Order: sequence, then structure tokens, then C-alpha cells
Amino acid sequence: MTNKLIKNFIAPYKNEIKTLLKKIKEFDRIVIFRHQTPDFDAIGTQLGLYHFIKDNFPSKDVHVVGENHVVFTPRLYPPMEILDDEYYDNPFLAIVVDTADTKRVSDDHFKKAAYIIKIDHHPNKEPYGNINIVVEEAAAASELVCAILYSFGDKYYISQQSAKYFYSALAGDSGRFLFNSTSPLTFEIAKLLISTGFNLSKDVYQKMYQKQIEDLRVTAYVLNNFIVSPKGVAYYILSEEIQDELNITFERGKENLGQLANIEGIHIWCSITENRAKNKWKVSIRSKEIKINGVATKYNGGGHDQASGAEIYSLDELPSLIADLDSLID
Ligand code: 5GP
Repeated sequence: MTNKLIKNFIAPYKNEIKTLLKKIKEFDRIVIFRHQTPDFDAIGTQLGLYHFIKDNFPSKDVHVVGENHVVFTPRLYPPMEILDDEYYDNPFLAIVVDTADTKRVSDDHFKKAAYIIKIDHHPNKEPYGNINIVVEEAAAASELVCAILYSFGDKYYISQQSAKYFYSALAGDSGRFLFNSTSPLTFEIAKLLISTGFNLSKDVYQKMYQKQIEDLRVTAYVLNNFIVSPKGVAYYILSEEIQDELNITFERGKENLGQLANIEGIHIWCSITENRAKNKWKVSIRSKEIKINGVATKYNGGGHDQASGAEIYSLDELPSLIADLDSLID
């Protein structure tokens, strides 16, 4: 029997969810996509859904594509697949999770799909799917996907393997159930996933959060070099030279953002990380309460109210970015 919390949550999307199930049944070939520079929610949701389809529809030809994670492949997630261009010449269903806009989909082949289903929890600024199931209130794309899958009832099941991936996604995007987006539904989904019996510490948390001794040097650099604006915007800058010194790649620039969270007087915090290959600086922005995605959008990005990403083309733009963030603080 479908749980009441889940039932109420997905009620407005009943027709779309019916179509999703119909399309999964209809297509023999299904490819699951998600966003570039993936996080736990992107890959965890993608792999959780992959196993769900494989477990419940064993005859389907299902694939997961996109770049690997720089740290969590293969520690937590298996390597992604690379399909021949020809694969995409025959009709396939694309399910794109956790990705607000087409420019951020990791792997452009999704555009060749006969049918596209978008499932996301970012502001729906580009409804690029043939159907779009977008619920901003969801703490994670994984929460939304799990609510949908559990709403199918006893006819289908979420295996332990699938649950492990979904759980990593849920813990990742809810900040281990710390962010405001965490709701009774988040805990309900977590409960159902844990009930499949995986080992929370060994199968998930150790793989997600265990650090190496060298990682402490990166944290030390951040703690020694962060800057705070008069209004309370804190940021650290990791040029490529510093990344080389610390032996990290640009994707890891945001890893120490949490060091600046929960500090009195810091209302917004950012990492500014050089990506010389692309001649850009990746900006990750977080806040306690202030809505920051408007400023992120102004600087070539977007995201959630309290967690967004942006890009600047040189450090010359940094003073105006910080001034714009400063102006959000009373
Ligand atoms: P992060 O700083 O971790 O890369 O991103 C924080 C959040 O903002 C994530 O939910 C991510 O998907 C979203 N985000 C990051 N960059 C962009 C972007 O360029 N456009 C949009 N729409 N969302 C972004």
C-alpha cells in the first residue's frame, strides 16, 4: 500500500508518472543521463534508477552515461558507460535526472532520444522533456525519483543495490539531513531505503566521507586563506597553481565549502576555482537563508535558493560578484 506522505507528494504529477511507467514499458532501449561535474545526487539517482529498471524489467537494454566522478568513481560508483555513436541512431528513451538545463546535461546524445523525460528538483527554467516532473521542494532528485518509484506500489521493488545509490544521493543533497529542504518525506524515503538492509556506515558513509591525510592540507590552505567581505560573504580562491601545489583538480575546489558553513557572521560562502582548460573560474555558492540563485544566474549559472553554481571568466569579475552577493545581505 502506498504511504500517505508519498501519495500526497506525487499527487499533482499523477499523469506524468503514469506516462513515465508507460514509456519505460514501451521502450526496449533506455539511457539515463544527468548533469556535468556530477555530485552524489546526480550519479546516485542515475544509478539507483538504472538498477530499479534492470531489476524490475530485466529484458530492457538500460545504460548510464556521463563523465565519471573525480573522487567517488570507483570508490562509491562504478565507471559510467561510453556508448558508440551508432547506438543512438535507433529509437531510445532518455531519462534525464537532476539537470535543470540542456547545456548542463553530461552527454549531448540525449538530444537524439525519441522521447525525453526530465525528472528534477531545480527551478524549471528549461522544461526540455517531452514530460517534465519537476518538484523544487524535493531535498534531492533522489527523493523525488524514490517517491515516484515507491508510489508504484508492491508490483515493483527497490533492491538493496539500488537503495544504496539512492541513499547516497539523498544524504548528499540534503547535507546529511541538515539543510532546510529536509522534510518528513526525506526521512520517510531514507527509512524505506535503509530498510533494504545495506550497511549504512560501510556501504555508504565511509565511501562518501572518508578523507585522506593529504586532504587535510587542502583544508588547512582554505582555513588559512579565506576572505570575508564586510557584510559577511566568505570565499576562498584556488588558482590552478595552488591546485597543483595541493595536488587536486578543479572539480574538488568546492570540497571545503562546509568549513565556512555555520559560522556566525558568515551569511554566504563560496569557492572560486580556476578551470584553466576552459579558461573559467567555477564558483560554488552556499547560504544559510539568503536566496542566492538570482546572482548565480547573472554569472552564467543557477541552482537552488541556498546552493548554486556559477562561472566567471577572470578574477576581474570577482569584486562585482562579491558586491552582488553582499547586496543580498541586509
Ligand atoms: P555546485 O556548486 O555544487 O556545482 O552546484 C550547486 C547546485 O547548483 C547544484 O544543485 C547544481 O546542480 C546547481 N548548479 C551548478 N551550476 C549550475 C548552472 O550552471 N546552472 C544551473 N541551472 N544550476 C547549476
